[in-house]
Amino acid sequence: MDKQVYFFGDGKAEGNQEMRNLLGGKGANLHDMTGLGLPVPPGFTITTEICTHFYKNSKSYPPGLEAAVEDAIKKMEKCVGLKFADVENPLLVSVRSGARASMPGMMDTILNLGLNDQTVQGLKKASKDGRFAFDAYRRFIQMYSDVVMNVNMHPFEQLLDEARVKRGVKNDNELTAEDLEKLVGQFKKIVEMETGKPFPQDPKQQLWGAIGAVFSSWMAARAISYRRINKIPEDWGTAVNVQAMVFGNMGDDCATGVAFTRDPSTGEKKFFGEFLQNAQGEDVVAGIRTPSPINKGSSQAGSTAITMEAQFPEPFKELVRLYQFLETNYRDMQDIEFTVQKNKLYLLQTRNGKRTATAAVRIAVDMVKENLISREEAIGRVTPAQIEQMLHPRLDPKFPKNVIAKGLPASPGAASGEAVFSSEEAERLKKMNRPCVLIRHETSPEDIGGMDASEGILTALGGMTSHAAVVARGMGKPCVAGCGSVNIDYQKLQFTVGNHVVKKGDAITIDGATGEVILGHVPTINSQVDAYFSEFMNWVDEKRTMGVRANAETPNDVKVARQFGAEGVGLCRTEHMFFEESRIQAVREMIVAENVKQREAALAKIFPMQKDDFIQIFREMKGFPVTIRLLDPPLHEFLPKTDQELTVLARSLNTSLDSLKTKVKSLHEFNPMLGHRGCRLGVSFPEIYKMQVRAIMEAAADLIQNEDFKIEPEIMIPFIITMAEFKLLKADAVGVCEDVLKKRNIKVPYRIGTMIEIPRAALIAGTLATEAEFFSFGTNDLTQMTMGLSRDDSGSFLPTYVERGLLKTDPFVTVDQEGVGELIKFACEKGRATNDKLKIGICGEQGGDTATIEFCHRLGFNYVSCSPFRVPVARLAAAQAALKTKH
Ligand code: PEP
Ligand code: MG
Repeated sequence: MDKQVYFFGDGKAEGNQEMRNLLGGKGANLHDMTGLGLPVPPGFTITTEICTHFYKNSKSYPPGLEAAVEDAIKKMEKCVGLKFADVENPLLVSVRSGARASMPGMMDTILNLGLNDQTVQGLKKASKDGRFAFDAYRRFIQMYSDVVMNVNMHPFEQLLDEARVKRGVKNDNELTAEDLEKLVGQFKKIVEMETGKPFPQDPKQQLWGAIGAVFSSWMAARAISYRRINKIPEDWGTAVNVQAMVFGNMGDDCATGVAFTRDPSTGEKKFFGEFLQNAQGEDVVAGIRTPSPINKGSSQAGSTAITMEAQFPEPFKELVRLYQFLETNYRDMQDIEFTVQKNKLYLLQTRNGKRTATAAVRIAVDMVKENLISREEAIGRVTPAQIEQMLHPRLDPKFPKNVIAKGLPASPGAASGEAVFSSEEAERLKKMNRPCVLIRHETSPEDIGGMDASEGILTALGGMTSHAAVVARGMGKPCVAGCGSVNIDYQKLQFTVGNHVVKKGDAITIDGATGEVILGHVPTINSQVDAYFSEFMNWVDEKRTMGVRANAETPNDVKVARQFGAEGVGLCRTEHMFFEESRIQAVREMIVAENVKQREAALAKIFPMQKDDFIQIFREMKGFPVTIRLLDPPLHEFLPKTDQELTVLARSLNTSLDSLKTKVKSLHEFNPMLGHRGCRLGVSFPEIYKMQVRAIMEAAADLIQNEDFKIEPEIMIPFIITMAEFKLLKADAVGVCEDVLKKRNIKVPYRIGTMIEIPRAALIAGTLATEAEFFSFGTNDLTQMTMGLSRDDSGSFLPTYVERGLLKTDPFVTVDQEGVGELIKFACEKGRATNDKLKIGICGEQGGDTATIEFCHRLGFNYVSCSPFRVPVARLAAAQAALKTKH
């Protein structure tokens, strides 16, 4: 077996940052810091290979490990001048786990290991502090009993409570040496009672008990589920770090704290942190005492707390010197854990600090300006998810908020509106322009309309992968899920939380980033697209090679898309235009028309409105291409449903209600996803597509002649399955285009292409490309038809399928590369082989997904198209894909 134990101490380390796989993240970091000459207490790391051996050999260790550990302890003893298990003045150690990736599911830390009934007396004598010695011992017994011996912690807590009450104090650190010594005795009794064995007194036995517990925690249930969710392989294993203790709780010249080299919430370049005098590390984390700011810059306005800078001037000066060194060395914002023992500063950890989205962008931009990192590195420092977070509206922090409940932060963004308890009600309010929040026990596919109509969704049940959460994230709607304290009463149309009653129509606010449910209306502000963001996005665009367009059809959406940096419209769905109140009547007349003449008369009414739609869209997208899809859905979607609506239509058509009903019935599609829709309508009723093409070209011609700008209309024919179909409809379209251009006597560079959204179209792509000038992959339909799934399945069983590993990803979120992806690849290759000028894009929902964007980039797509609010996310994902494939 290779080297089993790696030592670090006194400025020398056997490992370094590059050895994460062998030493784990924490271990590699400790070695690296030691090698850099930083004041790190000495210690050693038992490698992840030992963990693998442990599980392959029925939880036993390889020969030689024991000797290697003893040897490393001797080296530690030499570094600190103390001896492990020494009854006069013992060396105490900490034992920590540390996998390659940080894993909250695993055993964390045991401190003060090496204490027993004798060594505690030695510690008392050496430190001249009985309180400190017995506090260290009682903490050790607690931690060790908990994580190594699986003793229930409740009786320990209870005894501590009782001791405080008896002494008449609030905090543990106010207990006396005698109190703590007595507690130690009681704690040991509990252990013996619960386990039938005395608390281990032999420090060596304690050490091996702790090492075994670290390795065993790798297979604890919560570690296994954490790995499954985060896709961490089981064979990585964990390392064990054993390190000499330093004490922040040895008196008033001691302290412990956490510092960030820049502000983790704003990104501002200022040293920021908190500390506690006379305390041990977990006191800061556990929030038992309120920490103080390390310097003025970390203080709340008006705070009178004494800073570390004032109280520990020398260690603070040293900390400042070291943080500057660390940030320059690791070239990223650092999160540093430190301890001051008797006025000497020690570093226990440094790592790249977690930060908000705003801070991530600002830090990346600032570090480029400081010549610390390159622009390319800066682009890699911000995730597409962070960009998304920045673009959602937030609650205005200036307004007070009355938080009444907290659920899961299932989909970011804040929403405010009237409380409603059904999807029908949400849709009704939407029609009246009244913002609402939809409140349900949980949502189901029937709620899609209501979710879409509401500003945000609140559910009492369900987790982060519940229907509500998944669908809301897809829609970009704020959602708080699984808010158990909310008691919903559908009968009374109200919910209660404690004493609060919220009735239908009452104002309510939710914050999907924090999970908060707030009484009343809290205004939202649009997220800060500040100068840092703009500069960052400029760099992103410099590195990006693939275009990013938007799926949009209303002039407002197109405008938003343009503001978010869309370089064109990738999908303009014309059917949405037909639903508008002012034109639905004419659309219905067109659909139920009995002959071409009647149909053309109805189309003539629609034509000017349709032309005006395109004028507005072209204007917003001045100079950029716009892909317009000719009518796609089955016609019955436009037809009246209620008797009242039917009567109105019958009257205007001068026909009887009965014959209209017969006509409507004949148009019903049994499976509306399939059948008489898309280009098939263009074949049956050529007048419809011809009207649309004429509207497109006349709009373009008007703008070119009157407003003098460039337009590139792209006319897209949906649902193609045969070459003959495409040829027929293309000929119709070209006929209209040429007619308009000839009459106007101008030139407009237009293109005619097709969607690839049925597997058959992908299979004949090579042939289609001889006639089609562009392909746009409609991966919504392509996924449905390739995989036999419905889009609603994203909100029902698919998340479980993914969690159980039956599918790698939800194929409606990320293109399924083994199925739909293979078809796309095939179609690209065949299409390009017959037409080297073929433009290729994607316009299904997956076009805004990071992994799909990388996939499209690798296939050499010209652009991806996604919903307007995802455009900046897609720009970053495309830039990151470009950098990834370049290196
Ligand atoms: C598609 O099928 O991917 C597509 C974009 O069309 P729609 O979603 O309108 O069916
Ligand atoms: Mg489609």
